[in-house]
Amino acid sequence: MVRNDQKLDVVIIGGGPAGLTASLWCRDLGLRSMTFEAGARPGGQLHRIYNPINNYPGILADSGDDLYERFTSNIAHIDEDIFCDRSVVKIDTEDLTVIIHGGEKFSARALVLATGVRRRKLGIPGEDEFVGRGILGSGAKERRTAAGRVVAVVGSGDAALENAVILSEHAERVIVIHRRKELSARPSFVEQAAARSNVEFVAEAEVTAITGGESVNKIELIDRAAGRETTLDIDMLLIRIGVEPNSDLLKGKAELDNAGYVRVDSLGRTSLPWIYAIGDLANPVSPTIVSAAGSGATAIKAIARDILAAR
Ligand SMILES: Cc1cc2nc3c(=O)[nH]c(=O)nc-3n(C[C@H](O)[C@H](O)[C@H](O)COP(=O)(O)OP(=O)(O)OC[C@H]3O[C@@H](n4cnc5c(N)ncnc54)[C@H](O)[C@@H]3O)c2cc1C
Repeated sequence: MVRNDQKLDVVIIGGGPAGLTASLWCRDLGLRSMTFEAGARPGGQLHRIYNPINNYPGILADSGDDLYERFTSNIAHIDEDIFCDRSVVKIDTEDLTVIIHGGEKFSARALVLATGVRRRKLGIPGEDEFVGRGILGSGAKERRTAAGRVVAVVGSGDAALENAVILSEHAERVIVIHRRKELSARPSFVEQAAARSNVEFVAEAEVTAITGGESVNKIELIDRAAGRETTLDIDMLLIRIGVEPNSDLLKGKAELDNAGYVRVDSLGRTSLPWIYAIGDLANPVSPTIVSAAGSGATAIKAIARDILAAR
């Protein structure tokens, strides 16, 4: 049980780059805060990045874990203010109270949501069943397991094409399956994938089922270009069809856009007083570590200013 015997200024929900930065700035500005993180440790998506990160200013990190270590090296209060294995299941937007799974409640002058995004799913038979049994979690991390195998990559964006290139280093064949005619990934990824002799593309196709025994051995498809249903024999599958925001806590309460991202102003303020949303949750345009960190700093500076003005 977490002790809460003092009035809090800020409750932060989510301990990824945005929430961690918000927590850091609370300490810096003398605001009393608690951060609740659903996972066993803070860091969010950083723990899923297995490639070097070369676009965070001033740091060339070997991986997300490496950047996480550097991030937290100057968050000395991490054990005091950041509480893991605490999933926020509900918020009261009028009382500014959060309820943690298990029933603990915490109130503050301001709530900052930093709950990030989750991978979009296909929603088809076999998708949950074959996780870890042919359905890969990460192309970069599991690239060696693809040696000599036939791997299907579903998706057309940066993540799909980048993974297709990585997997093609070891796999016998990589088949990129995408719904539209065009690919949406950045040109450099498309060029790299197209240059690999063992990467193939199946356009205008939709995967409808994943089947197998011990592990995946087939996918069923609707091939819209050919106007028929078909199957493909594969050994492995990687699904990269984008992400969706973890905005359920604000659904029906604050303004969201059509894709479910929280609408905020330039300070991170939602349509509700004293409720802020930061990081990927409110930023479909630039879902990056640097933007998430920046939005955390901005929101806390704005909250500090408004708390001072309200005194
Ligand atoms: C494979 C990969 C590669 C990437 N490469 C780069 C890169 O090179 N450069 C770059 O800038 N960005 C990169 N990104 C994106 C970057 O990681 C994200 O933009 C960044 O992590 C967003 O931070 P965030 O704090 O907004 O959200 P997240 O990192 O998603 O963190 C959100 C946190 O909130 C927690 N949470 C969710 N719901 C609740 C709840 N109800 N209660 C409590 N906690 C909750 C989650 O457990 C999570 O820890 C990459 C991402 C991935 C997956």
